[in-house]
Amino acid sequence: MKSTTSHVNQMPETNHTSAERVSLFDRVRWAVRLFLGIRTHDLRAARTYIRVVYKGQFWLTKWIRFVWWSLRQMLVTIPNAMPGITIPPQVSRKPHWLDSSNPLANHPWCNQSDATLPKSVDTVVIGAGFTGASVAYHWSRRAATDRTLVVLDMGDAADGASGRNQGTIVMGRYFTMVRDTVLNHLPNVRPNLSAQEHRHLAEQFSACYCQASYRNADMIEQTIRDEKFDVDYARNGWVQERLADQQEALSESVRDGHRHGFTDWIAIDPQRAHQESGMNVEHPSGFSQKSATWHPAKWVWSLLTTAMRKPHVQFFSHTRVESVNDTNAPGGYIIRTNRGEIHARHVIYGVESYLPKIDSRFHNIIQPHQEQLASGQGAPDAMPSDNSITGQFFFGARRDNTLLVGSDSTRVPDRLAGGNKPSRFLTQFALSEYKRLYGSYRFTLTNEWSGTVGYTPDEFPLIGPLDDKGKYMIGGMAGSGSGIAFNAARCIVNRILGNTDEPDDYPVAYFGPSRLLEPGNHPWPKIEMPNE
Ligand SMILES: Cc1cc2nc3c(=O)[nH]c(=O)nc-3n(C[C@H](O)[C@H](O)[C@H](O)COP(=O)(O)OP(=O)(O)OC[C@H]3O[C@@H](n4cnc5c(N)ncnc54)[C@H](O)[C@@H]3O)c2cc1C
Repeated sequence: MKSTTSHVNQMPETNHTSAERVSLFDRVRWAVRLFLGIRTHDLRAARTYIRVVYKGQFWLTKWIRFVWWSLRQMLVTIPNAMPGITIPPQVSRKPHWLDSSNPLANHPWCNQSDATLPKSVDTVVIGAGFTGASVAYHWSRRAATDRTLVVLDMGDAADGASGRNQGTIVMGRYFTMVRDTVLNHLPNVRPNLSAQEHRHLAEQFSACYCQASYRNADMIEQTIRDEKFDVDYARNGWVQERLADQQEALSESVRDGHRHGFTDWIAIDPQRAHQESGMNVEHPSGFSQKSATWHPAKWVWSLLTTAMRKPHVQFFSHTRVESVNDTNAPGGYIIRTNRGEIHARHVIYGVESYLPKIDSRFHNIIQPHQEQLASGQGAPDAMPSDNSITGQFFFGARRDNTLLVGSDSTRVPDRLAGGNKPSRFLTQFALSEYKRLYGSYRFTLTNEWSGTVGYTPDEFPLIGPLDDKGKYMIGGMAGSGSGIAFNAARCIVNRILGNTDEPDDYPVAYFGPSRLLEPGNHPWPKIEMPNE
């Protein structure tokens, strides 16, 4: 990924001491600069903010409150947070993780410029992120050597969201969150069920999801240990701020999760939250105890490198898939790329938010959402290294002296999937949120980037067959790919290979893409109503 100059700040900022007061002149200067830096995506993100924060209010009230909030941000909150923060004129667009050297850069072309794609293979995987690399790894472990697999990516491995994320290995989303997103959507696809049936079905969905995610997290840890992957892995948990009016929902989410056997998500008091994260909060926080951190791009590179030690797994970077067509012969596809065609018996889409660009049936089914991050040197003293935090409107982590600060989750048009256009306003907003929770700190911005993740309308992933021949997908992971992709890839690989000796955590009844593509023909799970 190319490094570019940021579009907003061309003037170097002066370094202030944290105790310094911000003059009226400086406030106006910040406000003007923030205002002039506003781009189309800031307007989209503003709509997201208004929808979430002023939910249910009259439109005029929403807009008045939003304008007031924006003025305060530009004149007060952000300028107050800026002493101690340096924003140089040149900020790289390269994701922090991709500053590490990629052992698979331009593979295989850098060493073998005359390499050619195989004419025919058993399986083609499109995409070399968490998903594609996991498929390759499990294939190398489970498939006989006469069953060949090729991974194709239009860029380098981990160029998509997998090399642009925060590096938190999530335990999936927690039970209540999954239940509620599914519950919101169920009446649209199962209109004939009663409210009680909807609720039971949503709980079944959530239990299935959490069980798979818990196994996913343990499998990742075991694999890192067994393969001796050097991916900066640490399992220190993830603290999530909750305000006064969110306390009841927090208690309910912990209670419901535990009632169904999912004990990772707990509430911790402000002292414990400070101990775990350094944040100064007034109310209990949510805490995912077994979330971990890693270098996400090194995970992808390690999986692929290990997989390719087996002769039946190959990876071709900078190979764009242009179309996937059925052949006339029973079973099989022709995958057309910018480097030629491959015939394959199976195809797996591991392209997440890019899918609607490849297959327009997925418009509105996989919805690309932009999220962004920035990184730099310096961090609040109280913040420990190698854990993750989420505030009201930002997320972050610290790795040694590098601070990561992220924000946003706004739907963008399908054609913008994979784009890299971070908002400077959002970076500064997120930096000011750090100040709210940690007090003053010193920080110099070096990198700032964005990426896209794929959301389904029920925020529940799609993992399974796209036809009855051999086309599969793993996607719609709603910004939680580390909590799903590894285990999902294992299950799809086993299904293609016909292996039944390992548990399948992603049954079609719950995860099959027909749930959203053809809800009327989907084999929905039986609803298990408790005995009243
Ligand atoms: C700012 C940000 C922060 C995030 N933080 C976290 C986090 O802390 N924890 C977490 O679990 N998740 C996080 N996520 C989400 C996570 O990164 C994704 O869920 C995950 O990376 C998805 O992996 P993937 O392999 O399915 O997709 P991707 O990594 O997006 O990979 C898709 C690949 O497909 C390739 N491709 C697309 N079209 C074609 C084509 N036509 N031909 C060939 N190749 C193609 C792309 O080049 C890309 O490499 C974050 C995402 C962002 C953007």
